[in-house]
Amino acid sequence: MTQPSPLFETYARADIAFDHGEGSWIVDTRGERYLDFGGGIAVSALGHAHPHLVETLREQAGKLWHTSNLYEVPEQRRLAQRLVDATFADKVFFTNSGAEALECAIKTARRYHYAKGHPERFRIITFEGAFHGRTLATIAAGGQPKYLEGFGPKVEGFDQVPFDDMDALKAAITDETAALLIEPVQGEGGIRPVALSFLRDLRALCDDKGLLLIFDEVQSGMGRTGKLFAHEWAGIEPDIMAVAKAIGGGFPMGACLATEEAASGMVPGVHGTTYGGNPLAMAVGNAVLDVILADGFLEGVHDKALRLKQGLASIVDRYPDVLAEVRGEGLMLGIKCVVPNTALVKQLYANHMLTIPAGDNVVRILPPLTSTDEDIKIALERVEEAVSHLSATGRDR
Ligand SMILES: *Cc1c(COP(=O)(O)O)cnc(C)c1O
Repeated sequence: MTQPSPLFETYARADIAFDHGEGSWIVDTRGERYLDFGGGIAVSALGHAHPHLVETLREQAGKLWHTSNLYEVPEQRRLAQRLVDATFADKVFFTNSGAEALECAIKTARRYHYAKGHPERFRIITFEGAFHGRTLATIAAGGQPKYLEGFGPKVEGFDQVPFDDMDALKAAITDETAALLIEPVQGEGGIRPVALSFLRDLRALCDDKGLLLIFDEVQSGMGRTGKLFAHEWAGIEPDIMAVAKAIGGGFPMGACLATEEAASGMVPGVHGTTYGGNPLAMAVGNAVLDVILADGFLEGVHDKALRLKQGLASIVDRYPDVLAEVRGEGLMLGIKCVVPNTALVKQLYANHMLTIPAGDNVVRILPPLTSTDEDIKIALERVEEAVSHLSATGRDR
């Protein structure tokens, strides 16, 4: 928007505003329909206005919004139990966002060693290209200079090693190391999947050194890769995991999951949240799980993902002057570009399709897990149109 904005100028927003949506489609304030394959950054996993979510939220809105965690919240307990039953975890703490889920994960890891009589073990090793949120601790964990600059001393206790480098990792472990923190598939970093063998090696290393393994599945979780959580592909389990984005299908919420042992330092009074786990969020969270855990849903994600990835790979093959590679797991796909990734995102806007830029010159394709075959077919047509346009423009130059 060209007029001065009353908002903090922290975003360079596209000049589009949306009014409503349905399924994989979203309609702007001028009535133009866009295919939403960005999902508000991997959030709208069940598309827009999913009838079960809308119905659940409406019903809960007429009953009760908020009580605080001073009281029992039955839907919170129910959602936690369902997450525990579906994962490695024994315990859940609900938050309002991904960064808060990470804060809880970091605090849980530090408290674990503290409670075991090792307060000196508070350092956490993270990986280059990581993104864990925008709070002071999570920008320190992410380690990206562009997010740290100007915010004073970096929060102490985070050490970063190169992506996929076991020797560097081993060399970085000291008597003060508490945990390793990693995204099984880097999201903001450019849809970079960690090799499954590397994830298994991390598990073994943590067991060997008495470290906690923390997975950040804020972006890769909740069915995005065709499993409920991406680490399941590796056949190993973390000790602690941060989840958010798709867990509320667009309603703000997150969660920190942990084994009983890893959560053993989180005793009454040491952590809290006013809003986290409130009845509105919990009702919607349960409704999201109803859909994702339904029989055959995740297999469907896997099938759609194969078709989409194959279609994108064929476009990459035919336009090597514009695109370099397609990568990712399930419906968490990244197209590495030869042209600037923002040029492709803009051309896709022009073709009425939403995608999300990421690091490493990648365009993220994060469709609703509920996308239809027709949606995927249209997406491939629009990507091809945009790419062929960029290819032709490149030749004219
Ligand atoms: C988005 C994201 C976060 C931060 O989540 P917010 O809800 O924005 O705080 C953390 N980790 C990963 C991997 C993410 O993609």
